[in-house]
Amino acid sequence: MIQPEIVVLYEHLNTIETFKNSIITKWVNNTEVSQVLSSKDIDINEFREHYARNVMEYFIDVIKGKQQIGNCPTINNLLLFFEAKNITVSELYLICIHFRESMINEMIRQNLFTETLHSAICYLFNANFKGVLQMHTDTIMKAREEKNEFQNLIENSLNEIYIFDKESLRFSYVNRGALLNSGYTATELKQMTPLEIKPDYTKEQFQELIAPLLQHEQEQIVFETVHQRKDCSLYDVDIRLQLMNFGGRESFVAIINDITKRVQAIKEKESYYQMATHDYLTNSNNRQNFDTLFHSESKRAQRYNHPLSIILFDIDDFKRINDTYGHDVGDTVLVNISNRTKLCLRNSDIFARWGGEEFIILLPHADLNLAILKAEEIRTIFDSEPIDKVGRVTCSFGVAQVSDYEDLNQVFKDADDALYGAKESGKNRVNASIKLL
Ligand code: GH3
Ligand code: MG
Ligand code: MG
Repeated sequence: MIQPEIVVLYEHLNTIETFKNSIITKWVNNTEVSQVLSSKDIDINEFREHYARNVMEYFIDVIKGKQQIGNCPTINNLLLFFEAKNITVSELYLICIHFRESMINEMIRQNLFTETLHSAICYLFNANFKGVLQMHTDTIMKAREEKNEFQNLIENSLNEIYIFDKESLRFSYVNRGALLNSGYTATELKQMTPLEIKPDYTKEQFQELIAPLLQHEQEQIVFETVHQRKDCSLYDVDIRLQLMNFGGRESFVAIINDITKRVQAIKEKESYYQMATHDYLTNSNNRQNFDTLFHSESKRAQRYNHPLSIILFDIDDFKRINDTYGHDVGDTVLVNISNRTKLCLRNSDIFARWGGEEFIILLPHADLNLAILKAEEIRTIFDSEPIDKVGRVTCSFGVAQVSDYEDLNQVFKDADDALYGAKESGKNRVNASIKLL
């Protein structure tokens, strides 16, 4: 059944349609309305074009019987928009009242005003306002529930979550995880920027890091760095950084994962590996690791038919050095010999402490002659450059090339024999296994 008030309004439909722009303008330009809008950062023109116009059309449709009172997407959109702007119920009421007043004023201006028309407009307004108010409350409640769930999720996340301004870089939100791990209070953090907790970044470096996000070239940046707590202690972090829209404004969101344990486990694993494969004094490969590397190199050499040679060398009269200068000086000589040898080698060469004062070099792609040249180069360096405190320290060298891939131990025997020959014939010399000469 059509309400009698709607019938009254229908009689004035022409006037209402003709003067709808004037009604809208009066409405949105009203001092109180424009004050509310500007206090919520709402652009009046945008409000007129996107919302007020549609609301007017909705009322016209209600009068025409095309729409039900209090139930339409236009009003729903308007409410969502107001909700996003945090408009209160009384502000909403004020805006609605002024809509009613503009319509009444327009009727007065057109000399059409009657008691009946006034009641009809009030009826239209009240019926809608009741519906609007109910919808507004429902929308708010629903939005708040969703917001609460979302906030709970963020707030109680085990990760640290920081939101910071894209220009000032100042934190605007930090979750509980951030407070717990950083040791700062929310008030303290809100005076800070990420730079104050990232000791490894200068402002310029950080700006450079976030530039691809600001320029919308990249959606997310994932990186690892170190964070500094309030008590100055440091912890390793994995960071996922994104630029996101919050209520029409872009801010950075950083999700931080404390990876101290992971980094520590990797470091431990690395240090166990280092301990298991290296000699603690000279930090060279140990004999065991040399063996492993030698086997894989020999397979490759065999497959591609490359030559493979070794140089075994032993410090001459090392016992005398220990006896004369002490064991500690003896140790520094071992380190010195080892370091100087490494400087002579290519990346692909493999150097190891074979044991005591004996060292070994594996030379992939080197035949016996090339290996002899390399041994002679190293011998000359030791012979001509004295070591602090102890003076000249020489070495004897035994060189051999792998000739039989079925019996890999043979090359060590050959090199050892050659080294023995070098010692026998006066030390400080290079001797090669005669097999291939
Ligand atoms: P040669 O010229 O015949 O090789 O004589 P040498 O004195 O060098 O050989 P010898 O085998 O008689 O002595 C080797 C010495 O090296 C004995 C051992 O105490 C010493 N040595 C082995 N390992 C280490 C070490 O890690 N540090 C120190 N300082 N000395 C070591
Ligand atoms: Mg020796
Ligand atoms: Mg020896």
